[in-house]
Order: sequence, then C-alpha cells, then structure tokens
Amino acid sequence: MIDIYTIRPLKQAEIMAPVGVLQMLGDMNSFVVAPVFIWFIEGNGRKILVDAGIEEPVNGFVHGFPVSGGGEKGVRDALDSVNVKPGEIDTVILTHLHFDHVAIIELFQNARIYVQKKEWMSAFNPPIHYRFIYDLEHIQKMENMDLCLVDGDFVIEKGLELVFLPGHTQGLQGVRVEVGITESKKVEDRTYLLAGDHFYSYLNINPPKEPIELEDLKGNKIKLQPTSLPFLPPGLHVDLTEWFDSCFKAMRVAKRSQILPGHDPTLVGKVFS
Ligand SMILES: [Zn+2]
Repeated sequence: MIDIYTIRPLKQAEIMAPVGVLQMLGDMNSFVVAPVFIWFIEGNGRKILVDAGIEEPVNGFVHGFPVSGGGEKGVRDALDSVNVKPGEIDTVILTHLHFDHVAIIELFQNARIYVQKKEWMSAFNPPIHYRFIYDLEHIQKMENMDLCLVDGDFVIEKGLELVFLPGHTQGLQGVRVEVGITESKKVEDRTYLLAGDHFYSYLNINPPKEPIELEDLKGNKIKLQPTSLPFLPPGLHVDLTEWFDSCFKAMRVAKRSQILPGHDPTLVGKVFS
C-alpha cells in the first residue's frame, strides 16, 4: 500500500470573461467571473504545481480582461495556504501557455517544467486569433530553466501522467493523477484528470439538458439554452474536431465525474484525496 497524491486547486486570481468564452457562440456582452487556479499536488515525495498563474493587473486589466488578485503575491498567498514555499516545488506542469497559466513561472527555479513541444512551438507562431493570448515575455524565461518539452502522452511516474489533449490549443495537456491509498479502491475511482482549459467549467463537461440561468457580474440573469451535444465547446479553440476527439480521450482516461475543469468556481477550497 502506497499513499499517493492529493490534489488542491488554489485560487490565485479572479478573471472576468464574456459568456461567449465559456460557451461557443454565447453572449459576448455579459461577463461572468472565474477563478484562476494553480493546482498543488503532493505525494510520493513530490511537490507539484500545475500551471503558474496570471500577472498582476495594470489598471485592473490583463490582456484586455478585468482581473483581481494575481501576480507573485497571488501565488505566494495561495501556496501559503498549504504551507509551501515556491522553492519547495520540484515539478511544474503547464497545461498550456496562455497568459493566465504561465506568468509567474520564474518563481519556480528549483522545478523541472513540463510543457508539450507542440504548445511551445505554437506560442512562438500562434494562430492569428491567439496572438494576444500568448505572452512571450513569460514564456522565453523558461529557456534558462529546467524545461522539459514533451511530445504527446508521457508518464512522469506511476499515477502522475501527462495526457495530450489538443483542441483548445495546439499542445494542451491534461494531468492524470491517482489519489488516495493504492488498493483501497478501484483504480478508476482513484483517478482524476486535470483538464486545464480543455473544459473551463463543469457546464462544458455536462452540457445543460434544459435551460439554466447564470448570474453575470451586474447581477443580471443570463439564460443558457440546452444542447444535445455530448460536450459544450468553449468559445476559444484552434480546432473543434480535434477538441471533440480530445473530449472522448479524456473520458478514456478518467470517469466523466472525475474530470476537473480549469476555471470552475465550485472548485475553490476543494481537496481530492
Ligand atoms: Zn487557455
């Protein structure tokens, strides 16, 4: 019996985004608030971070999005909540290189950093609609760090695996994590998939089958129409066919109920162990 990983989503900032980012063809005038997470995973003698946060806002904005919190302080405060210092992190996995997932990477000088090679290449020559969503100022800093470029699925060690899930970006990767105590449960009941921005929220994983209401920042009700699609595509992607393929790959890796979306407000304060 080996006690393996525990997963803790830690809120580093809040970002405001139009409903149309959460849901393809959705309203671009109503904004909702979403947490920016850095994910702390501990176990097997490792201290792992998934994603490296968003920069501090200037005049309230980062890359055109209203943001509160963030920056190095946001990362330190989040890690303080689990009594960890940035220098103790030995592994950083970046799901992808969008500006709200990499900005504070320089703080993790003792970590080996895992990025998909395709994502790395794409950041330097992004599709036109993503030009302002990659920020080379942060990305290039990694060239002098312990950067490991990975080509597809990759096992860091048993129970901690990178899962290539292209679609939202050319090289997005999820993280398959086994939690709890081995042999105490079936492996599928101990397996989670951190999906990054492949799914922003649980709505993308479990599309509404009847109309639902969200509340926007001004307290207005926004109605989301039901869909017959098996997954609800977000508004930002590079290839929708590839995105759907990656949804079904995600389902092979973890049970639908154990796929963790990248920005869902209900994940604040949760622990998976
Ligand atoms: Zn993204």
